Amino acid sequence: MKTYQVDENGYYGQFGGAYVPEILYKTVEDLKKAYLPIIESKEFQDEYRALLRDYVGRPSPLYLAKRMSEKYGCQLYLKREDLNHTGAHKINNAIGQILIAKKMGKKRIVAETGAGQHGVATATVCALMNMPCRVYMGATDVKRQHVNVERMKMLGAEVFPVESGNKTLKDATNEAIRDWCCHPADTFYIIGSTVGPHPYPDMVARLQSVISEEIKWQLKEKIGRDYPDYLMACVGGGSNAAGTIYHYIDDERVKIVLGEAGGLGVDTNMTAASMQIGTLGILHGSRIKLMQTEDGQIIEPYSISAGLDYPGTGPIHCNLYETGRAQVLPANDDEALRAAFELTRLEGIIPALESAHALALLPKIKDQLKPTDVVVLTVSGRGDKDLDTYLAHRSEIDN
Ligand SMILES: *Cc1c(COP(=O)(O)O)cnc(C)c1O
Repeated sequence: MKTYQVDENGYYGQFGGAYVPEILYKTVEDLKKAYLPIIESKEFQDEYRALLRDYVGRPSPLYLAKRMSEKYGCQLYLKREDLNHTGAHKINNAIGQILIAKKMGKKRIVAETGAGQHGVATATVCALMNMPCRVYMGATDVKRQHVNVERMKMLGAEVFPVESGNKTLKDATNEAIRDWCCHPADTFYIIGSTVGPHPYPDMVARLQSVISEEIKWQLKEKIGRDYPDYLMACVGGGSNAAGTIYHYIDDERVKIVLGEAGGLGVDTNMTAASMQIGTLGILHGSRIKLMQTEDGQIIEPYSISAGLDYPGTGPIHCNLYETGRAQVLPANDDEALRAAFELTRLEGIIPALESAHALALLPKIKDQLKPTDVVVLTVSGRGDKDLDTYLAHRSEIDN
């Protein structure tokens, strides 16, 4: 049977692998040997499951959105990751990785963050586990995401502003990797998405796979069968999408539709739609499609949504796109904004701007939907953090 899961060398088709400097080779090898036995151990599972239930608030509801269903002519269920502690799916992964770090005897955590959402999730679990935490963040982002910086500090993390390059996520990631290179023995690098060298994409996908595990039994309870006709999610690095599709990835009855950030349009220079316009290259230890010039310089991505503003996409989704297993469509800024206001007005749910990029695909695929089709769409996070942006654009959308 054809599988879209990782192979024994850490590849998804031609994507993935572990391109790391010599000095990290042993650290990454150690993690590669350790992560599966740890994740599959009863001790890990007991602790991880208990925290997901009592600390994160799982299972997250699967909600039949009646008015949206009517509008789009299908049975639309929303997977409510926005209701998790800290407001998004990222906590599922952060909890899993810090438990793995502890089992491996690591004493210190580093992380990178762009919008600050992964930084907050990491700072949260470090407070919970009493581990020292340093979060690298581009100096530009430190200014733009002031509230999240204060949240991280309040949680006890040290926020380290990065002054190199464009002073955004890519530069923060480089700096986090540099730190990891200097302290490979005692430091664990908590990566926030399905990116980075193998085994990170597979490890993060497994830690997020609780999303599709729940969708299975929740659908069974609600509609009497455990699979939908469509799964939809937004893609930045790819972790909420990976979790949403994990247990269905090889099930061809289930169609997969993913939204990436079109920005001002894929034919402009202001976009983050790396699957549409990217070319093969290596970024942060992984072979993926990324936005680069002909001589391999990274093109700074743009999206209204800080969480989708990454110049590449993880190897899992690059492979799903290249093989045609997933339909990957861009959603532009204005389409995402409109979708966010629509969900708010029709269902009383203010989604994160990232999640709005999945919602914005509903009008694009409406013609292919049948009234009996069951569609599960993951609302990856809540929109509190995006309120300023929503207010700034309200008059254009909401008249
Ligand atoms: C970070 C973030 C994303 C994008 O990350 P993925 O790894 O692609 O899931 C999406 N939604 C929210 C709410 C986020 O915070």
